[in-house]
Amino acid sequence: MQAQPAPLPDLKTLGRMSARFVRTPLAVDTSRLSAADKNALVQLVAAARLIDELFLKQYWSGNTATLSKLRRDTTPLGKARLHYFWLNKGPWSALDGNRAFLPDVPAVKVPGANFYPEDMKKEEFEAWSKTLSPQRKELAEGFFSAIHRDGNSFKAVPFNAEYSADLHKLAALLDNAAALTENPTLKKFLTSRARAFLSNDYYESDVAWMDLDAPLDITIGPYETYNDEIFGYKASYEAYINIRDDAETDKVKFFSSHMQEIENNLPIDAKYKNPKLGALSPIRVVNQVIAAGDGAHGVQTAAYNLPNDERVTVKKGTKRVMLRNVQEAKFNSILVPISKRMLQGDAVNDLSFEAFFTHILAHEMTHGIGPHSITVEGRQTTPRQELKELFSAIEEAKADICGLYMLQYMYDRKLLPEAEKKLYTSYLASSFRTLRFGLHEAHGKGMAVQFNYLLGKGALVANADGTFAVNVEKMKGGVRNLAHDLLTIEATGVYGAASRMLDTLGHLGPDVNAALEKLADLPTDIEPVNTTADKLK
Ligand code: ZN
Repeated sequence: MQAQPAPLPDLKTLGRMSARFVRTPLAVDTSRLSAADKNALVQLVAAARLIDELFLKQYWSGNTATLSKLRRDTTPLGKARLHYFWLNKGPWSALDGNRAFLPDVPAVKVPGANFYPEDMKKEEFEAWSKTLSPQRKELAEGFFSAIHRDGNSFKAVPFNAEYSADLHKLAALLDNAAALTENPTLKKFLTSRARAFLSNDYYESDVAWMDLDAPLDITIGPYETYNDEIFGYKASYEAYINIRDDAETDKVKFFSSHMQEIENNLPIDAKYKNPKLGALSPIRVVNQVIAAGDGAHGVQTAAYNLPNDERVTVKKGTKRVMLRNVQEAKFNSILVPISKRMLQGDAVNDLSFEAFFTHILAHEMTHGIGPHSITVEGRQTTPRQELKELFSAIEEAKADICGLYMLQYMYDRKLLPEAEKKLYTSYLASSFRTLRFGLHEAHGKGMAVQFNYLLGKGALVANADGTFAVNVEKMKGGVRNLAHDLLTIEATGVYGAASRMLDTLGHLGPDVNAALEKLADLPTDIEPVNTTADKLK
């Protein structure tokens, strides 16, 4: 059954593979930082660069040796390989099913990364872990340990021992930055995180991260578990060194103060409305100076929700951080070229990053409104429980559509300067970017539902030349009606209604597929150039 391994990409092919990531500078204005914070930033950027090295070790056991071999290879092919290696932080191409692009490496990504012995079987680990005391089992199955063979058995080595030298250096850099900054919440996060690197106990510093409110907005530590494809237990180190965006943060506050009003005016039956919304999870808008480690390989992160540790989220909830300049870079390098092919002539002039980003904010805010706690046949339940695996696609479509609805509501009442045409045109353009990633996950499926629904209502129009357009007047009614349908499915929790909607609308017609094919040669993502970070020395 084993297919013949694909030949390794030559110089030309590798050039094409790299070109899917457009080099885009990420410049950030640091002029409003205090002198103390500017000095702290230098330490934190140095810490981020160390996180890259630490992550390489976690991602694959052969990474460090492979990297030094590539660095010695000064041929054009060697240089191209080194460049693509850095984009992927390893020898496997993220956009090609994690297939190897280098010789003498495993043909695809090692499922357990370097968290487990490469030859370990899942059942072997499970059999061993059953024999452990509760405390040792917690370490073995926890976020913060690596598993090694130990004679005929295994042992779990905590990260603070596994990566001791790197973590000591990181702790020192964080302590330096903490001593420099004058912001008490940042000081607290950095000192507690430095201690966590040495003690392997991240709880207190995760709590401090939730309370962080500072011009330097820092995320650094072991977080996501996607690289552990065996169990999803083990956390990879990443860093995001950001500067808070005060104007956008004010916009979030302004939206927050209107969310109850939006809830009261949602287009659903009054009995489904929540007269008293609870606190919504906090959203921070920042500009990224540098991302590193797990936060900077393959497709670049544009937003993240943390922490993942349930002991912390039960107590403090989670926080969403949105990387505005990363979104803007993707908008300019990906969305604009897509639009030039998908929109007719002048419509490209209605594209607006401002409108696009405001809609992303509105999307995030409207996740927090609409039905959350519902009653089905006398049972207290949630839309997620009732709609099961269909929930995510419905909920993502709901957030997109209710985000449009909310902004239109605010335009109509002069709460925001009117920008209808820009909003709907940017929304149409971004729908192509989402659909291009495929319908296998919730965002793509939810996007197909919206696209087909609005096309059916004449709110989106397929032109004869293969381009698309918006009809602003019909958009308003289409958005309101679709919001009504999606919210009602969530409020009533009827699984059959969700599945009917996804079956009828969650597919792409031949028009749209043909249009998407025209985009095949356009880049997929950006390769950030850290212009601000590179200037700090
Ligand atoms: Zn969402």
